[in-house]
Amino acid sequence: MKGKPVKHFSRFLFFVALSLATLSLTLGQTPIPSNYDSLAQAIVREALGSNHSYALLNDLVIKVGNRLSGSPANAKAVAWARNTMERLGFENVRLEPVMVPKWVRGNVEEAFILHPDGKQERLNIVALGGSIATPNKGITAGVVEVKSFEELRSLGAAAKGKVVFFNRPMDRTLMTTFAGYSGAVNQRGRGAVEAAYAGGVAAIVRSMTTRLDDVPHTGGMGYADTVAKVPTAAVSTVGAERLSALLKEGKNIRLQIKLSAQSFPDVESANVLGELRGTEKPEEVVVIGGHLDSWDKGQGAHDDGAGCVHAIEALRILKSLGLQPKRTIRAVMFANEENGLRGGTAYAAQERLGEKHIAAIESDAGGFAPRAFGVSEPAYEKVLAWASALRFVGIDRVQRGGGGADIGPLMRKGVPGLGLIPEGHRYFDYHHSDSDTIDKVNERELALGSAAMALMAWLVAQEGL
Ligand SMILES: [Zn+2]
Repeated sequence: MKGKPVKHFSRFLFFVALSLATLSLTLGQTPIPSNYDSLAQAIVREALGSNHSYALLNDLVIKVGNRLSGSPANAKAVAWARNTMERLGFENVRLEPVMVPKWVRGNVEEAFILHPDGKQERLNIVALGGSIATPNKGITAGVVEVKSFEELRSLGAAAKGKVVFFNRPMDRTLMTTFAGYSGAVNQRGRGAVEAAYAGGVAAIVRSMTTRLDDVPHTGGMGYADTVAKVPTAAVSTVGAERLSALLKEGKNIRLQIKLSAQSFPDVESANVLGELRGTEKPEEVVVIGGHLDSWDKGQGAHDDGAGCVHAIEALRILKSLGLQPKRTIRAVMFANEENGLRGGTAYAAQERLGEKHIAAIESDAGGFAPRAFGVSEPAYEKVLAWASALRFVGIDRVQRGGGGADIGPLMRKGVPGLGLIPEGHRYFDYHHSDSDTIDKVNERELALGSAAMALMAWLVAQEGL
């Protein structure tokens, strides 16, 4: 570079700065720094430094374990949540009773492939939540394999007296596993009804997971008053592959299924609430929550122990930083998300004189590293403006549309809904199975999820929506 060195150098610096700025804008819309950036960093330091999220989850899964609605463990979970909120000094800690279904899996759930030569092969199955039992001696019948309800209907009488095997895998080519789940889960939810319409004697469904292993995944299913109830179970993906291969080889096999599940009258459970009261607009409420119940498999660590811990930790972190919000932030541990949504429904239906819900934020997608928030209209644009601060907690995307099952009833009343979206590639490896245990949770990822929920709750409580 010729001429006066200093002048050239400053021009050189200017060009470097300019190109850097252009570069970052094209890469990621570097947001305008906000005065919440430093708070976001303080929240992250507290979340990671204390490692309290993991300690709290450990406390829940060790002291309570899996906690299906209506079970004694579920009642323990309600007490655990209340005691934890009181111990952490939340305000107005209380229970809101709600009646929930009581379904009990029982001790018998087994299936065998019976070969014509008498050989038996065990299949790993779990009863689906809500299923009826088989007779004590079980159900033994031939099997028809289908990949859709349309295919089943097209079989006509061929399914009569058979076990209907629904074997359409979750589409693993999709970027988000939740999309794959939504595309396959109707087999679990409605398989029993469709099997009964086709004259089937039982239904068996490929587990909702992209992972090939021998762990079956349970989950909710439903019956219809218009047709007989048939026993229904999920089989592991390894078992599904084996069964399908034998059927394709034209082997004249039969399936024997034994289930001892039972449904009982509803029992009382509760939503558990605790708050940081607003200083300026206490009547305006930001709900932050997850569901306290889990399936009776594994420990319910990711589903939804992580979401409950995220919500409780969010308030604890803000308290530990000496922060009291302008609007009330209310942590809600929703009852009965897995098989009835009674908690979310009851929460939204409850009359709350003088209160106005301005937002509901849910975490129910596991304790993995936070990546994004899904935001329902009309809140999307407002939340987008907080992108700068959100980056400090690992959130690099704000996407249109979001919420969560438990806050759905509130959203249907017009309350804006936000859902935490963590990295999702491993969620369905563990979802609703014995694999959903705390050793599958990374301390730092869980803590960052709490930090993301804490920051979002604070931003909404301070800025409104
Ligand atoms: Zn869940």
